[in-house]
Amino acid sequence: MDKKNEDGESLLGRALPRRRLIQGSLAGGAAIATPFLHPPIAAAASKSGAAPDLHFDAADPEFKKAIGELRAALGDDHVQLGAADLLPFHDPYYHDREQQFVPSAVLVPGSVEEIREILKVANRHGIPLWTSSTGRNLGYGGGAPRVSGTLVLNLRRMNRGLEINEESGYAVVEPGVSFFDLYEALGKQTDHRWWMSVPDIGWGSVIGNTLDHGRGYTPFGEHAETQCGMEVVLANGDIVRTGMGAMDDNPAWHLNPRGFGPRVDTLFMQSNFGIVTKMGVWLMPRPEIYLPGNIDIKHDGDLAALIDVVRPLMINRTIHNYPIIGNILGYASFVSTRDQWYQGKDPIPEAVLQRISDETGIGRWSMRFALYGMEGVVNAHLAEITRAVQTIPGATITTRRYRGDIPHGEIHPMDKTQAGIPGMEIMSLTKWYGGEGGHLGFSPITPLVGKDVAEQTKLARAIAEKHGHDYLCGIILAPRSATHVCEFIFDVNDRDLTRRAYEASRELIVETAKRGYGEYRAHLDMMDLVADQYGFNDHAARRLNETLKDALDPNGILSPGKQGIWPRSLRPRRA
Ligand SMILES: Cc1cc2nc3c(=O)[nH]c(=O)nc-3n(C[C@H](O)[C@H](O)[C@H](O)COP(=O)(O)OP(=O)(O)OC[C@H]3O[C@@H](n4cnc5c(N)ncnc54)[C@H](O)[C@@H]3O)c2cc1C
Repeated sequence: MDKKNEDGESLLGRALPRRRLIQGSLAGGAAIATPFLHPPIAAAASKSGAAPDLHFDAADPEFKKAIGELRAALGDDHVQLGAADLLPFHDPYYHDREQQFVPSAVLVPGSVEEIREILKVANRHGIPLWTSSTGRNLGYGGGAPRVSGTLVLNLRRMNRGLEINEESGYAVVEPGVSFFDLYEALGKQTDHRWWMSVPDIGWGSVIGNTLDHGRGYTPFGEHAETQCGMEVVLANGDIVRTGMGAMDDNPAWHLNPRGFGPRVDTLFMQSNFGIVTKMGVWLMPRPEIYLPGNIDIKHDGDLAALIDVVRPLMINRTIHNYPIIGNILGYASFVSTRDQWYQGKDPIPEAVLQRISDETGIGRWSMRFALYGMEGVVNAHLAEITRAVQTIPGATITTRRYRGDIPHGEIHPMDKTQAGIPGMEIMSLTKWYGGEGGHLGFSPITPLVGKDVAEQTKLARAIAEKHGHDYLCGIILAPRSATHVCEFIFDVNDRDLTRRAYEASRELIVETAKRGYGEYRAHLDMMDLVADQYGFNDHAARRLNETLKDALDPNGILSPGKQGIWPRSLRPRRA
């Protein structure tokens, strides 16, 4: 089946002649009443690997009492137990239909005060909570909790955009604000004189994505670095503000990331140490010229050369966004389906990969990048990049050019992400195998050095194909490192293919670690396994995380097991 965009246009038909226009890629206190020993949490035999499969028993009488108290605090509508309410908080892509990762209730507070009421009840009864913002972390477990039976604390009702500061270029958002919401607000207030950074998929939360170390593709695409100034509710209900926000009414809260003393905001990313309720996010001034482009590499073996050509251009800021290099299948999956190219059940053979490249004109590797700024500067940077790329035999560079103030409707859909315009088109890649598409991300970090990236991609391809999967990837570049997002795509109704994606990913985590590389993000099922690989000095990093966990959340109520950080009471059950 040819894929179509929202307007019913054929992506394949439109994209192939314009072969460059294809993208792909691929976060006054309640008293702590009783020390919690997690009596209602039981461990079952693990089906999938390293960690025990934990389960919070929702039939426990303590749980029923707690639900009554939560209803009194939030109102019946915001304590949800019905199957339809819980469904969005299952992982739709998980291989096990019995679902290890399912909540027993969803709590939807509307304010910081309501969060604090929830924390009082949770601490009193020893009930674990799993915080999410919009809960759309697809590919990494979606909105599901690590410990089944946990109550999801979903912050989608806290969806106010609190401020857009046009003088200094920042916005302040609550957790329920999605990339679409912020984009719309920027249009209304600033007529898009300020641009934002978006991930390839726009429906997620600005805060949720940032807290999971999410990535965008403008020069502001390292979201963990372009957030500034958080408000966090701790497990005991205390409210802290980071950086300059630690003073009352300090106007530099969202301008200067550090205050006096240690910088603590990063402690609340990929952790279970607090609940983030506000965050500042820096915006990018609309450039005079926006120039997206692609560098296509003809030969599969020239990936290392491309990386080594691009690295100095990124370190010296000639290229100052976050480019992504997709392999041929990464791009093909965006504009077509597998059966258009190959009917076999085995991984697509080399000859077919080459045929796809030849027929579409897309390189075996294609780098999406963009330049932004004053016309003369953009032209000079483009000339420099062109000269460098010409040193790779057969490499081509293609660009499009837009004035920064062009109406956004006139920007080609494939160029929107790098202009900070949110969309959902990328979901089409999950349909590669047809059926009900799903995917699992395996995402190690390597140095941005040709031999490291090439070695990692070869390993990933070999293991993916060994497990009967096509190898699709997008490598997100930073000036000194590369995030290799290996996408396992499947039809979720093909249980065997789906299960094999999880098996391949587990094998890759271990094999990759043997070569010294670790993942930047992980699915719930693999958080323990990934954390296990960070073993320097007999897991000193884990001991530090556990020390912080015990100090900040002694009852262990916040997101137990997230990122492999377990509260004291559950550690003996860790594998
Ligand atoms: C096709 C496809 C393409 C994608 N492309 C990208 C991409 O380009 N870049 C990218 O980064 N991701 C990408 N993703 C992954 C994912 O969809 C996004 O990162 C998405 O924004 C995450 O979901 P969310 O924003 O709803 O976060 P949530 O699910 O709300 O949060 C993510 C995690 O952060 C923690 N958290 C959330 N809110 C809070 C809080 N307030 N306090 C404390 N902890 C909190 C929770 O543990 C939660 O599980 C892609 C996914 C798909 C399917």
